[in-house]
Amino acid sequence: MSPIQSNLNTIRKTLPPLVTLVAVSKTFPNSAILEAYESGQRVFGENKVQELVAKYEELPKDIAWHFIGHVQTNKIKYFAPFISLVHGVDREKVLKELNKEAKKNNRVIDCLLQIHIAEEDTKFGFDVEEIHQLIASKALTDYPNVRVRGLMGMATFTENQEQVAREFRGIQELFRSVKQLLESPDFDTLSIGMSGDYDLAIQNGSTMVRIGSAIFGARG
Ligand SMILES: *Cc1c(COP(=O)(O)O)cnc(C)c1O
Repeated sequence: MSPIQSNLNTIRKTLPPLVTLVAVSKTFPNSAILEAYESGQRVFGENKVQELVAKYEELPKDIAWHFIGHVQTNKIKYFAPFISLVHGVDREKVLKELNKEAKKNNRVIDCLLQIHIAEEDTKFGFDVEEIHQLIASKALTDYPNVRVRGLMGMATFTENQEQVAREFRGIQELFRSVKQLLESPDFDTLSIGMSGDYDLAIQNGSTMVRIGSAIFGARG
C-alpha cells in the first residue's frame, strides 16, 4: 500500500460514516490522485480553475470534482459543465453567474455559501447578518439552476484549539438556524474541517471535511 493509500485508510477510520471526505488534491499530480482513486476515493477538491479543468479532462469520469477556491465569476463557465459542488459562494453575484452557466449547460449546480467564521480578518465569506439578509430577501429562489446545499467555513489558522472550536460552534449554530428558516431538505451540508482541525470540526457537526496534506503530504 502506498503512503497516500495508508493515510486515506487512517483518516477514513476516524470519520463517522455520514461524513464526506473531500480529498484536496491541489498542486498534486494526476499520479497521486490515481493512487487515491484506486483505493476507492471519488471526491476530489481543487482551488484553481485551470488545474481543475486539466485534471477533469485527464482523469476518470466518475470522479466528483469540488471547487473549493475563491470563485471568480468570469471563470465559472469553464467548470459549469461538470462541477459537482462549489464550496466558496461568498457573494450574490456568484449565485447569479452560477445560475446562468448552469442553465446554459441544462443542469442544476450544487453549492455552499461560504461563511466568514475566522476571527482573523483575511478570509472571504458572508457574515451572519449578510446570510440572514440574503435569506430574508428571498434572493435564493431567484436562481432555479442553483441548489444551495449548505454552508462552508474555514477556521483561523492557529494553534489555539479553543478559538477554532469557538469558530466551528458559531458556524454550526448558523447552519442549524438557516436550515430551519429555509425548510429545505436539500440544505444538508456543513463543510468544515481540514488536515489540522477536522476532528474538532466533526465534534461540531461537520458533514464534509476537506483534507489535503494529511493525505497527500506537504505542498511544495
Ligand atoms: C487547501 C485547502 C484545504 C486543505 O488543506 P489541508 O490543510 O492541506 O488539509 C481545505 N480547504 C480549502 C478551502 C483549501 O484551500
